[in-house]
Amino acid sequence: MRIGFASDIHRLVYGRKLMLAGVDAPFSLGELAHSDGDVVYHAVAESILGALGIGDLGTHFPDSDPKTEGMNSAIIVDYVYKRMDKMGYEINNIDVSIYLEEPKLKSYKETMRSNIAKLLHTDIKNVSVKAGTNESLDAVGQRIAVKADSIVLLKQK
Ligand SMILES: [Zn+2]
Repeated sequence: MRIGFASDIHRLVYGRKLMLAGVDAPFSLGELAHSDGDVVYHAVAESILGALGIGDLGTHFPDSDPKTEGMNSAIIVDYVYKRMDKMGYEINNIDVSIYLEEPKLKSYKETMRSNIAKLLHTDIKNVSVKAGTNESLDAVGQRIAVKADSIVLLKQK
């Protein structure tokens, strides 16, 4: 068994999509990022890299690389899945928390779980997605950022 954790945060700006685990959530603000800014996929991918002990997201997908410009972050999760698979591990379970004041994510949670499960080739019951606000405190609470935490447990195949 190997455990990994990661946290990601992006600034929210006008004129960008709000991408959350592959869901394009209708909202006036979206993540500012070099890629599509999917804060959930970034946290998920980096927690797995952490569990495998093979560096962080920036090592594998540098911001300076023009190839990653506007990139669909599902590609990042797929890449990390393949690394994990090659190293002989699979998901035991993964637990994600999203911190965002608006919009309410209740109606997207199942789609987010399913998107993550598919990309990681695991059963949806092994994927947890939780969402909450930061009660108007800090950058998330001030609606200038969206944050996600991911913790994952891998097991040998
Ligand atoms: Zn990110």
